[in-house]
Amino acid sequence: MKLATKYIHAGAHPDPSTGAIMTPIYQTSTYVQSAPGVNKGYEYARSQNPTRFALEEAFAVIENGKFGLAFASGVAATDAVMRLLVPGDEVVAAHDMYGGTFRLFSKVYEKMGIKFIYVDTSDANNVAKAMTTATKLIWLETPTNPLMNISDIEAVATIGKKHNCMVCVDNTFASPYLQNPLDFGATIVMHSATKYLGGHSDVIQGCLVMNDQVLRDQLYFIQKSTGAVPGPQDCFLVLRGIKTLHVRMQRHCENGIKVAAYLKQHPKVGKVYWCGFEDHPNHAIAKKQMRGYGGMMSFTLKEDTLEAATKVLSSTKIFSLAESLGGVESLINHPASMTHASIPRAQRIANGLSDGLIRLSVGIEDAEDLIADLANAIG
Ligand SMILES: *Cc1c(COP(=O)(O)O)cnc(C)c1O
Repeated sequence: MKLATKYIHAGAHPDPSTGAIMTPIYQTSTYVQSAPGVNKGYEYARSQNPTRFALEEAFAVIENGKFGLAFASGVAATDAVMRLLVPGDEVVAAHDMYGGTFRLFSKVYEKMGIKFIYVDTSDANNVAKAMTTATKLIWLETPTNPLMNISDIEAVATIGKKHNCMVCVDNTFASPYLQNPLDFGATIVMHSATKYLGGHSDVIQGCLVMNDQVLRDQLYFIQKSTGAVPGPQDCFLVLRGIKTLHVRMQRHCENGIKVAAYLKQHPKVGKVYWCGFEDHPNHAIAKKQMRGYGGMMSFTLKEDTLEAATKVLSSTKIFSLAESLGGVESLINHPASMTHASIPRAQRIANGLSDGLIRLSVGIEDAEDLIADLANAIG
């Protein structure tokens, strides 16, 4: 089945009691049992909810996986994966990933005895070199936030298999429309559904998708035992968002190409980070594993200072200054003070994330209006 058809029908079954074409919001905490232990498969809504189950099926369908699980946020989904580990285990992780993931690893799990080795995963050899007998998880993010570095999922998955180690890919930036990590051998795909899957900046949610039944059962056990489940209303919103994912992503990609090209030729713009450029260091890998390049990009001004960046960040009218990404409206963000403030400055700079870096989430408005807005702000 082609993507457009898949996204519209993923997880959708007419409601058994009425035939309602849209999955109802089952706003209930519990279910009436006909006798002790005799029920319809639903006992308590932390463990089972039909709206959530429909969404979890949709997650699996759109990521070409067998099982999906929904969480109260993207970070809660990441946290569930971390709970598979025990003290002494090691994690090899991307050195320039999402700041909240870094914070969870370094501030919550390090003190619990998990060891993290951060490497530049855009070269798979760095991952291979960091592996030890204690490595139980490789955490990849591709493209990375905000520098748009690309890692070769297939090459890293091969390393993981050789060491009997799980590979989890944060696929938030690409969305399932552009990339399906399980197809390249990843063990788990993680999304912040808050972003492209929800798509309308009105919900916080996360998901995991996997193929292995034993792993699914372990993660389901963690989901219900630790309780970071999304409510049915939020599940409904993400189910609805998924139905237009392909249409939105097509426009994000079209606008992304135009905005990236505009920035690249601008005399006041320094470097543009976007994996669709042929001179992007990992463009060949991006081309191999992605179906397009999306609307996420970052850039610096030639005058790469906080002051010059601040002027642009405060002058746009259509691009709103805000954290987050992947919604229909365009956002502009300052990673150093906003999304990535939890990474120590020295480490940020060493990773190539300067104080003047500006990140864009190019929305699905008219591209000419977006470019005019940037032209006006950059001056
Ligand atoms: C937003 C984001 C997360 C965290 O997701 P939340 O839904 O905000 O908890 C994780 N990874 C990436 C790449 C993100 O952009």
